[in-house]
Amino acid sequence: MGRIRVLSDQVANKIAAGEVVERPASVVKELLENSLDAGATQLKIEVEGGGRKLIRVSDDGCGMLRDDALLAFERHATSKLADVKDLLSISTLGFRGEALPSIASVSRLVLETRSAEEATGMRVELAGGKLLRADEVALPPGTTITVRDLFYNVPARKKFLRSEQTELAHIASTVTHYSLAHPDRSVLLRSGASDLLQVTPAGSLRDRVYQVFGSQILDELVDLGSRERELTLPPPYVPPSQAVAAFSAEPEEPGSRTFRLTGFASRPQYQKLNRNSVFLFVNRRLIRDRLLMHAISSAYHNLMPPACYPFAVLFLECDCAEVDVNVHPSKTEVRFRHGSFVHDFMRDSIREVLIESKPVSSLPAPERAAMSREPQRAVALPFSEFTSRMETQAWPAEPSAVMPPPAQESAGNLPEYTLPPPRPASAAAAEAPLRIRIPDTHAGFPADAMAEPSVSLAVLADLRPLGQLHESFIIAAGKDGLWIIDQHVAHERVLFEIVLEQRTRGKVESQRLLMPMVLQLTAEQQIEYARIAEELHAAGFETEPFGQRTLAVKAAPAGVGAGDIEKLLSEILEIAETELRGVSMEDVRRAISASIACRAAIKVNTRLDQTKMEWLLAALAATACPMTCPHGRPVALRYSIRDILRGFHRI
Ligand code: ADP
Ligand code: MG
Repeated sequence: MGRIRVLSDQVANKIAAGEVVERPASVVKELLENSLDAGATQLKIEVEGGGRKLIRVSDDGCGMLRDDALLAFERHATSKLADVKDLLSISTLGFRGEALPSIASVSRLVLETRSAEEATGMRVELAGGKLLRADEVALPPGTTITVRDLFYNVPARKKFLRSEQTELAHIASTVTHYSLAHPDRSVLLRSGASDLLQVTPAGSLRDRVYQVFGSQILDELVDLGSRERELTLPPPYVPPSQAVAAFSAEPEEPGSRTFRLTGFASRPQYQKLNRNSVFLFVNRRLIRDRLLMHAISSAYHNLMPPACYPFAVLFLECDCAEVDVNVHPSKTEVRFRHGSFVHDFMRDSIREVLIESKPVSSLPAPERAAMSREPQRAVALPFSEFTSRMETQAWPAEPSAVMPPPAQESAGNLPEYTLPPPRPASAAAAEAPLRIRIPDTHAGFPADAMAEPSVSLAVLADLRPLGQLHESFIIAAGKDGLWIIDQHVAHERVLFEIVLEQRTRGKVESQRLLMPMVLQLTAEQQIEYARIAEELHAAGFETEPFGQRTLAVKAAPAGVGAGDIEKLLSEILEIAETELRGVSMEDVRRAISASIACRAAIKVNTRLDQTKMEWLLAALAATACPMTCPHGRPVALRYSIRDILRGFHRI
């Protein structure tokens, strides 16, 4: 008697149905889940052509009985579920019995499997869902499934596949996820001749994080330990007609459910530009869930600038009855029975650990509403360190009032940033205004100073620097008022245009490093690196693969400090990753230039002498778009003469 059964229609119809095969990575996901469900300890994934040509997943799991090898390709044939009841407590990754038939129907598939209970195994070959042959063969225990020519018989689907590199990056991300969820297994991901990920069984999640991401990340992480919260279930409903009987019966314990959260989250200082570094699992199942993602963002609320994400590997464990995985065919969405409880538990647990570990700033952080910033432009450009630092620090006095309108990058239509009218000092404000008329002894102002001239580039060239505030902002006098220029952002704009121009003409100026710098790359970063290696070279980097998963950096764009090179490179690789979401190479190029400019620009808290300030203002005036930094942030605030006069009650 085999283990696999074909589900009855009644059960099959209750399962969220739909295509499972969307792209090569979905095949890898389903095959990996099957291997894990089969108790495999060694998982090997080989791909060619980004998975379009070949995907092979081999495991040393329980294998299939000979009779089951054919049955596995029937729809709704599974060994993991028998009854509708079982749907309420799914503990395996698979349960739908749909993956193998779906994959087989859009590829040329070979299954080789042997159960340890039987002396021989089976080799089954299908193409486009049709059985070509099935033979009894000698095999080691375990299962190997080879999928070739995905979508060969569905040209419409094949057309929708993205580039080889993009599909490979999706596969790498899937495999990385599962390797984190199962630190005790060996995982090997091989693309063509190169091993993108190779990990042996690790003693702990921490060790696995180290194996996958390298040592640098560990310093940025805080361990959540094991956080638990109990949910008391309401007593079961008893209809009034049975109330008396229920009263005299044994009192039933109102049940309770325990939720447990373990894993790591990065300190707020460590910021990622996209969600790709949040690895989320519910009962060891990889999940992409809005509710939980929101809980994570709320945990970092005010600790991190908006539109940034942490690095996190989080495992939520709960009773199977508390979570419905049968919501979506790809099983990556879930529905919680007590969603808001789970949300709050997750948010509070992470936040507590972050705050315990080390507050970012001793000052109270401003309310998010007060920092009402427009979201970043479509290309998620990196935040400059400067601006993010500024944002995480508190600015007590009504910061919203000085926030600029959304910046537009157009030289013709310069946005104007107006400070609120200055208020008199508080002591004076308490004094009742004098009611007698005071003869105006102050000299009058020339009429043209009072007019609100439209801000033009010419004004910038006329600015006279007066000094620095906080060694971060240049205070300058102009014909039309007082200007406050953010020195870092201004320099960033200047450099951005230079770098972009150099890049367009050929190659960005670069500097050789005394000693090559060695960087560790994750599987996904390796793929991105391969894709943009040429662009990196043109941007002034000289890099070379150096052994497994490492990169030697021999030269970097001029002006970037040695301490910033590593950050710059990982930022660029991260930007390139957003290609997964459809960013063009041209955007990647602009983003790289912006990153270089940001890293090479004068930092905050840097004293500038008069000549440097004058030079910076002149260079800024010469740019094509002096009013916003490449990230769309304002470069300068203007306090017009009119505002000043209004503040002094002269008008
Ligand atoms: P599901 O995983 O939802 O049960 P699948 O179509 O993915 O459905 O797989 C069908 C059945 O084939 C599984 O229930 C399992 O019994 C068997 N199977 C698939 N892959 C493996 C494997 N790698 N090792 C052992 N058995 C497997
Ligand atoms: Mg399955």
